[in-house]
Amino acid sequence: MMPNFAFKSGEIGGSVWQHEDMPLNYRQAMSKLSFNIEAVIAGKARLSEEQALELYHHASLHDLGQWAHATAQRMHPEPYRTYVIDRNINYTNVCTAKCTFCAFRRDHEDQDSYTLSYEKIGEKIRELVAIHGTQILMQGGMNDRLPLEWYEGLLRYIKSNFPTVHIHAFSPPEFVEFERFFGMDVRDIIRRLHAAGLDTIPGGGGEIFAPRVRRRIGIGKCTGDDWLRVMRVAHEEGLNTSCTMLIGHIEFIRERIEHMAALRDMQDYALAVREARKFSVEDRGAGKAKALGDVATVASRVNKKLPGIWAKSGKFTLNGGDTGSYTAFIHWPFQRENTPLGRAKEWDEATYGPFDDSTNEDVLRGRVVRMAGAEEYLRMLALARLYFDNIPSLQSSWVTMGPKIGQLAMFFGANDMGSVMMEENVVSAAGTTYRLQEHEICRLIRDAGWIPAQRDQYYNVLRLHDGPDSPDLQPVAHPPIRNVKQIDKQFIGAAPGIDDDADRSVKVQLPLLGGAAAAPLRGSGG
Ligand code: SF4
Repeated sequence: MMPNFAFKSGEIGGSVWQHEDMPLNYRQAMSKLSFNIEAVIAGKARLSEEQALELYHHASLHDLGQWAHATAQRMHPEPYRTYVIDRNINYTNVCTAKCTFCAFRRDHEDQDSYTLSYEKIGEKIRELVAIHGTQILMQGGMNDRLPLEWYEGLLRYIKSNFPTVHIHAFSPPEFVEFERFFGMDVRDIIRRLHAAGLDTIPGGGGEIFAPRVRRRIGIGKCTGDDWLRVMRVAHEEGLNTSCTMLIGHIEFIRERIEHMAALRDMQDYALAVREARKFSVEDRGAGKAKALGDVATVASRVNKKLPGIWAKSGKFTLNGGDTGSYTAFIHWPFQRENTPLGRAKEWDEATYGPFDDSTNEDVLRGRVVRMAGAEEYLRMLALARLYFDNIPSLQSSWVTMGPKIGQLAMFFGANDMGSVMMEENVVSAAGTTYRLQEHEICRLIRDAGWIPAQRDQYYNVLRLHDGPDSPDLQPVAHPPIRNVKQIDKQFIGAAPGIDDDADRSVKVQLPLLGGAAAAPLRGSGG
């Protein structure tokens, strides 16, 4: 049964309000949408780009959250929410691109440039395996001095020494540079790396596909068309991938929606190819004819909007073989610290006036950045859950948003807490990021009302933490010691003696999430 989302003006917060006294966002929520949102929540209708924009501009955050949560519950009725244990390995920081939001890249000549040896990468994986980790997320730098054989050798080295470890590696911008470095088409490169051990491809470098935005923030990085082309080929070659979006810089809202529309279109295409490949070569039945017709229809529809995606990398067959698809969508806000783009002025309504989503010259020219906070992050997450009817999982971005917003994300459409990362270098080089241990992630999931479950990259549950041996229900033998000067000020505010510059260097033990006194299971469904 569909939940009833309607409320009357006199019922908000238990007090009697007149409509005109309400905050703007409540008034907007009460204005009638031009379409039936309940059909979208029920999976019986698909949001158009115009409807998605209408929701962004006219629905209250609370309504969006309720609608997205209801949709997520329909798509993921299971009593658990998931996480994966992995390690980010940035094998080189040498990069031919010069993204203006990046604080990680180096030139060959820089003293702190590096490329990790196979052995060093092996050491990192050994540490990962020791804590039940199951996969590595391995990305550069796009280093023009590494030949294809170096990558093949690395993948074979990892698979021979750590056969159970899943390799999620090399984002689309790296593949586009590989084409240039090696003088090969991406299909042949993917085939060789897949044969050497590559399992899936992460959706890094998606940012925002709009050429206007990419020209300004992703200097030297592949176009949106090329990003989507690499993923098309990966799916045709049988590899699953994830997809991403970077918000809160110089993009307009309509460009975010266009970005999401391109992903949804290409997912339609991947799923149509998968259906067609279920039939054998010999099959001459109507089912196969329909499936092949569906592929042609979807390809033609998408080709009209995004012709560049089919401009290169042809030659594949629909006669059998695995087909990959986007398994998850992840978005996060731009982190400005230490980045060239971060030096731009921040959007301020008092100075620039209300944000204009279509014509504002300062945004068009990249003179100001419009940073995204928690409200913006959650609004887009909810919108993504309502919009992506064909991408199964949405991840919470607690690494950039913090544990509490990360937990709240599970009520705004996220069904996965992403990864317990042993290491992260790229985003953390550009600003505040958070670290959580496995027991802390489990605690966040359990407190939100679900059973925590460790998954693999295919979203198979590896360990369902429904018993007393769950990580969050164990006593913590040695709580970590932290330096008082490094305690995040959001937890201590302006406590006397903490905000000045005196070097106290006192070591204290802080209370931990997920200690022995963990909350009992609250049942499923949230
Ligand atoms: S974000 Fe990636 S591609 Fe862009 S400069 Fe940094 S390392 Fe290179």
